[in-house]
Amino acid sequence: MTDPGGGPAASSRGRRILLLVGPVGAGKGTQAAALSGELGLAHLASGNLFRQAVLDGSPLGEQARVYMERGDLVPDDMTIEMFMHELSKPAAARGAILDGFPRTVTQARALDATLARRGEQIERVISIEVPMEELVARVAGRRVCPECGTPYHVDSDPPKVAGRCDNDGTELQQRDDDRPEVVRARLEKQVRPMLEVLDYYDQKGMVQHVDGTQPIPAVTTEILEGLRDGW
Ligand code: AMP
Repeated sequence: MTDPGGGPAASSRGRRILLLVGPVGAGKGTQAAALSGELGLAHLASGNLFRQAVLDGSPLGEQARVYMERGDLVPDDMTIEMFMHELSKPAAARGAILDGFPRTVTQARALDATLARRGEQIERVISIEVPMEELVARVAGRRVCPECGTPYHVDSDPPKVAGRCDNDGTELQQRDDDRPEVVRARLEKQVRPMLEVLDYYDQKGMVQHVDGTQPIPAVTTEILEGLRDGW
């Protein structure tokens, strides 16, 4: 669909570093997967990277685990170090989509400064925007098979037989933190720092605001067209 790594912005600034911003349920993971495939970029999702570090039992994982178990943010210096390490891997040679980081303006400033020291900068911040009540409905409709892990959604991706996994017939479950009241609380906690980060980049004219209520492929197309043509 696009020329991966191409375009004037990419060629004049080296590899592409994109930020994907959006609250839980906005479709960030889905879009990150589509974009990383389309553009040949690594998808670096902070939560996944930290969880993997914990599973690996690495020194970073051991330190991060303490904060994660408390539901706190991992300290900025550790988070930045982890991302810079991931960005130095061959998988990110063409660039990366950063997902879940930066989560605070302090992290955003530190990321910008660290990239600048390496002669790099963020090319674009993509904000996927969906109204709060739709987010709650989306997340609250998620179901997962406890046996094989297949995800479903009661409205947009239902199983063939209601409440049962297509693969093994196991009764589907809702994750505790996908219940509506929990989702609303998670969203409220996430939204303020996220808006502050967006505002920081908006002031630099770097944010592409994308209507996340459109069908999934339309959101991907809008983002790719924005990257190609400006917005
Ligand atoms: P998530 O899956 O994105 O909810 O992240 C899971 C956990 O990883 C969070 O609760 C934090 O402890 C940690 N984490 C993820 N992203 C960041 C970040 N940008 N800064 C600090 N901690 C983070």
